[in-house]
Amino acid sequence: MTQQTHKYRFGFLDEDAKKEIRRSLLKAIAIPGYQVPYSSREMPIARGFGTGGLQITLSILGTNDTLKVIDQGSDESVNAVNIRKFISKTCPGVSLTKNASVATVIQTRHRIPEFPLKLGQILVLQVPYPDPLVMVESSEAKRKQMHGEGDYARLWVKLYEDMVQFSEITISHRYPCRINGTYVIDPSPIPRFDVAKLHQSEGLYLFGAGREKKIYAVPPYTNTEPLSFSDIPFRIEDFTNPTGQRRPCNRCGSTTSFLDEFLDDSGQRVYQCSDSDYCNNQLMQRRE
Ligand SMILES: [Zn+2]
Repeated sequence: MTQQTHKYRFGFLDEDAKKEIRRSLLKAIAIPGYQVPYSSREMPIARGFGTGGLQITLSILGTNDTLKVIDQGSDESVNAVNIRKFISKTCPGVSLTKNASVATVIQTRHRIPEFPLKLGQILVLQVPYPDPLVMVESSEAKRKQMHGEGDYARLWVKLYEDMVQFSEITISHRYPCRINGTYVIDPSPIPRFDVAKLHQSEGLYLFGAGREKKIYAVPPYTNTEPLSFSDIPFRIEDFTNPTGQRRPCNRCGSTTSFLDEFLDDSGQRVYQCSDSDYCNNQLMQRRE
């Protein structure tokens, strides 16, 4: 990976930076759920726009890879389009796709594709806040010790207080999960619907927090348990209509996908797959 375009080094980052990130990734994979610190580099996009995910993607891409970039389930949102453009400029030879099933690396924010990941596929998640303990402890040194000792008592109390006050665990988009029976991670802001996909997945999940300078991983076939109480089990978003039936996607008719809700021109509520590639695929299959 030493070839260069006339403007950029392949993968934009220098080789030492990529090497350090790959070493951190190996450690993260070897200790599932452990937050590995790394020296996050400055990127030509602002922190908070996916620099952590981008640095991981740039460090692992080779010319034989096929990359998909999504944001909120869509290949066409501004963040996804810009990251894809940047990678196409800085990683010549890497194929770009919108088809999740043929991608070797998928970079994403806020969603995991509907097509289950296969062995060999890598999903890179952009993470704003890596540590679920930040809700109960402000000192990073103390949080590190708490993780090391498996001391999640205060996190459990926080979840319990939520239950008492709101009758459910309210940190819905940052749902803490215990990985491999040990460390508790923040699986980044994804729907609970997607949290369930992390458990015993065939694919490798990598999490990059650029601003917070942390990398962690959920390797293939790893137990991922969302924290919940025995009498109040973890539950995913509810897409049933008032008559008790699962709402279908307004466009492709799928009754198994995660749905976005919006209002159409006449003010009617409309439900549609959040994963645009999946929705297009279902539509094509129906037409065939
Ligand atoms: Zn659909």
